[in-house]
Amino acid sequence: MGADIGVTGLAVMGANLARNLARNGYTVALHNRTSARTDALINSYSNEGTFVRTESLAELVESLERPRRVLIMVKAGAAVDAVIDELTGLLEEGDIVIDAGNSFYEETRRREAALAEKGLHFVGVGVSGGEEGALNGPSIMPGGSKKSYESLGPMLEKIAADYNGEPCCAWVGTDGAGHFVKMVHNGIEYADMQVIGEAFDLMRSLAGLEPAEQAGVFREWNTTDLASYLIEITSEVLEQEDELTGRPLVDVIVDAAGQKGTGRWTAISGLEVGSPVTTIAESVFARSISSQLGLREITNQVFPAGINEAVTAEELYGSGDARQDFVEDVRKALYASKLVSYAQGFDMLTAAAQEYGWELDMRTIASLWRAGCIIRADLLDTIMKAYEGSEEQPRNLLLAEEFTEAIAECLPAWRRVVAAAATYGVPAPVFSSSLAYYDSLRRDRLPASLTQGLRDYFGAHTYQRVDKPGTFHTRWSDDR
Ligand code: NAP
Repeated sequence: MGADIGVTGLAVMGANLARNLARNGYTVALHNRTSARTDALINSYSNEGTFVRTESLAELVESLERPRRVLIMVKAGAAVDAVIDELTGLLEEGDIVIDAGNSFYEETRRREAALAEKGLHFVGVGVSGGEEGALNGPSIMPGGSKKSYESLGPMLEKIAADYNGEPCCAWVGTDGAGHFVKMVHNGIEYADMQVIGEAFDLMRSLAGLEPAEQAGVFREWNTTDLASYLIEITSEVLEQEDELTGRPLVDVIVDAAGQKGTGRWTAISGLEVGSPVTTIAESVFARSISSQLGLREITNQVFPAGINEAVTAEELYGSGDARQDFVEDVRKALYASKLVSYAQGFDMLTAAAQEYGWELDMRTIASLWRAGCIIRADLLDTIMKAYEGSEEQPRNLLLAEEFTEAIAECLPAWRRVVAAAATYGVPAPVFSSSLAYYDSLRRDRLPASLTQGLRDYFGAHTYQRVDKPGTFHTRWSDDR
């Protein structure tokens, strides 16, 4: 009997997925370019299940049951192509090559087409949940052919996160669909974190709530419709004291947010498929601005940003429970902005499904994110309901009856918070851009008519009329 699956690439993610597979009863053949990693895994964890040690890809392939399943977990990019090139010479028709790393979906589409010509299945799998998820149950978003899922799916479902007895794993669509869905997940994660950051900044700058007090606020919010993993861990991060200085740790951490690129991919891909993912793009830009430390320092000297210390929630909201009112407004603004970012993410998935001919099922996708991944949140259950059963799916999540009332209820608070941010100079790019998105969608006329007029004036780009079909051009002046 050969091994059930081979894993090549045994750095943290590959090693943890291999252990997860072995713990679930699969015989896992192991390979890594440098065999020291293979040995380390076997030496430390051979008690967790059955591993087969191999020295080369040829030996790995040789050790497997047919159809062979080879999971690649090497550094994204050229290394994936190098491994695929070597594997294709070793595999046979019907075998399955799986890339569970963070590959760009266009690369996955290209690789899938190339391997399909050789009779091989190539499955791009989105895996979310980091190293802990890979070991104990990640959220898994497989693409590739439906046929490959027959053989691969049960294994992936067994190692995936469990949400009330349901695995957070399902086939999402052909070729690069899995990596696309994972990419959108990451884009939403950027927006989720940015809105939390904006709420924190506003509550501190305008209501004087220090991090430790805010830990309590976020803990309380985690019992509302904002309940989610990120809100939960925000309270833990905010109450953490720095051992060296005794200050809140959040004040000691350099305020320059890193990024590995998946948010940027989501913003770029949103533009590619014609879907305005403004909250995600703003979140990526917010991280970029934060990283311009030198420029920020100079600008802060030229235009000191000091928020008027006299400004307090009382000034904004009058006396009484002003601070509490402001905090509740911020909570509502956060919820509405978060909702917009999910609405935009799903809109982007809808646009991509049309563009690439994928059968994306939005309800299923929402279900995959309920456990094992960073954006897990109670909101996803409501999103699933919004996409449930009905023949006619909501054109945009904001139009789903599950959310129309919630948005209406949050709206006055959302506007007050965005207005306060602008008035007192606290940057809130996602709170404000998500509000602008909502206002743009609901506006009967947008100034795009003027844009069209200007384009026709200087470039004869033509325009369409509201009152009759056709394409028109105006002679705007004697020389035009
Ligand atoms: P990594 O640091 O991205 O890559 C290291 C692994 O790639 C090592 O096994 C290394 O082999 C191998 N490798 C590099 N170049 C190679 C080449 N030319 N040929 C063959 N093997 C090569 O590993 P990782 O952090 O475990 O991540 C693996 C994948 O998962 C990446 O795509 C990463 O982006 C993704 N990832 C996902 C998450 C998540 O939450 N889903 C989190 C982290 C990473 P040697 O040991 O011989 O150097």
